[in-house]
Amino acid sequence: MPPITDLFQRLPMGIVILDFAPGDGTARIHSINQAFEVATGWNAARLVGHPAGVLLGEQGHHLVIRQIHQGLATAGQWSGSVVVTTPSGQPALHDWAVATLSAEQPNLAVVAVQSNAGAQLVEFVQRVTREPITGLLTKTAVVDVLAQRVRRADQGERPYPMVAHIDIDRFASLRSLMPNEAVDRLLRMIAELIIQAVGPDCAGYVEPDRFLIVTNDLHALEQVLDAFGRRFDVAGSSVYLTATAGLALYPGDGRTADELLRAAVVATQDGKRAGGDGLFFYHETSAARIERIRRIEDGLRDPNWPSGAHLLFQPKIILATGRLAGVEALLRWSHPVLGPISPSEFIPIAEQTRLIGRIGSWVAETALNQFGRRFGASDISLCINVSPQQLLESNTDFDAQVLSQADAAGLVPSQVILELTEGMFSDRTVLARAGQLRASGLGIAIDDFGREYSSLALLTQLPATKLKLDKSLSDGVALDVRKARVVRRVVDLAHDLGMRVVAEGVEHQDQLPPLAEMGCDEVQGYVFARPMALAEVPLVV
Ligand code: C2E
Ligand code: CA
Ligand code: CA
Repeated sequence: MPPITDLFQRLPMGIVILDFAPGDGTARIHSINQAFEVATGWNAARLVGHPAGVLLGEQGHHLVIRQIHQGLATAGQWSGSVVVTTPSGQPALHDWAVATLSAEQPNLAVVAVQSNAGAQLVEFVQRVTREPITGLLTKTAVVDVLAQRVRRADQGERPYPMVAHIDIDRFASLRSLMPNEAVDRLLRMIAELIIQAVGPDCAGYVEPDRFLIVTNDLHALEQVLDAFGRRFDVAGSSVYLTATAGLALYPGDGRTADELLRAAVVATQDGKRAGGDGLFFYHETSAARIERIRRIEDGLRDPNWPSGAHLLFQPKIILATGRLAGVEALLRWSHPVLGPISPSEFIPIAEQTRLIGRIGSWVAETALNQFGRRFGASDISLCINVSPQQLLESNTDFDAQVLSQADAAGLVPSQVILELTEGMFSDRTVLARAGQLRASGLGIAIDDFGREYSSLALLTQLPATKLKLDKSLSDGVALDVRKARVVRRVVDLAHDLGMRVVAEGVEHQDQLPPLAEMGCDEVQGYVFARPMALAEVPLVV
């Protein structure tokens, strides 16, 4: 990426960029643009890199430079008449307007050689350096900051710089649910949090959902990511965000701004693949990772699949009575060479490679059969996780399959609950299909509510019978008063809408009384039971 000073080349007004040596009243000419060459007859070769005295005269230039420097320090800009020397050595009067380029590079000043250019110049500098929605730096400007830091690091400055490339998780679906000005407000809130953590001069915004931060302070970055974990109130609803940050460190991950930026982007992509939500370092292991993904894909594609696969069932317990409410089917798979692999790793790969349809069908059929044999028609329910593609692929009629298999297993449709994550509903087709599933008598659960972003307003529009509070909401509910207040509102609203509420990932006894007090109906988590073979599932705990 070209440095920001290059942007002035295109301006129709004559521009000189001065590079001040702080303190001693001298400056060098950093660059000039074409319009300046045309207007004055100077050419870059004779000026660039030379002391300002060449242009301003050996005698008077210290005084002028000091005046400009003072003006910039106090007001951020300076204007006045200046005697300059023409290439032939004659004096000429110029009207100069001067502005600092950016706070990060206070030694660089842009000079417009035109008396009425002051306001225009400041505006232009703003425009090339500040992004209008968030007020953060533009991408060009922040890459320039990075290039500066790299240059200073090359000269021995410590600590070394690093760059973080931050991507808001699931922003596309969030965006589709909110009016534009609410999205802008949300972006501004995020920008403020970033500015609080690292200041205004080393963070940039890149449309539509990415931020760049140049820093040498890992703690500040962690602070930024933590800040994403709070609730954002926009457009009358509460939004929960997470972000994935890829981090590249000078000099190990790159020796130039461009190399570092590329590494940070790769780290973000790898982080997303690993589930996102957190800080991910760039390591030169991408090749190994790609190889692993390829082998997992081969394993899933293998005609022998589901060899190596089986289901476990995790009990859901009625909080008030300790009785079994139902079970959630969770897929387990052991790769022939790589060994056991978490569904959090292989399900996304199956989704990306369109293998999820076949896998999901096997899960549904197997779960319904096993469950039917153990529980039959009863008030105990079976939850099955469903990926969006299973509903989108028109060649597999997923609901017809589930309904007929449930019937064959001796179950009533309302015993079968399909778990869909909240984000899936932002796709209109999925939303419509979920409505059809609901209408056919199957239960619908909103899974992982509170993990990514969560809209209370959206809840009212979904055809769901159950709401599953993500582990991140259940965690700390005994200690965190704010979280407790959020959970209480969510539970109340879900009840008003006729949904039952399940708290997921509950690990500790002390979480149970507050969850009960807030009205949670069911609990699923290690506190009661881990995923287990169906035969071992107890009726009461
Ligand atoms: P999920 O649907 O949110 O499932 C709950 C996950 O939380 C399970 O992880 C479960 O083992 C884990 N868990 C339950 N209680 C606790 C607890 O108290 N503490 C902690 N730390 N974890 C707890 P698992 O089995 O690794 O599954 C991960 C994810 O993979 C699932 O998240 C689900 O999204 C996906 N998945 C699993 N099986 C299937 C499937 O058959 N189809 C699809 N599409 N996705 C599946
Ligand atoms: Ca689930
Ligand atoms: Ca879940």
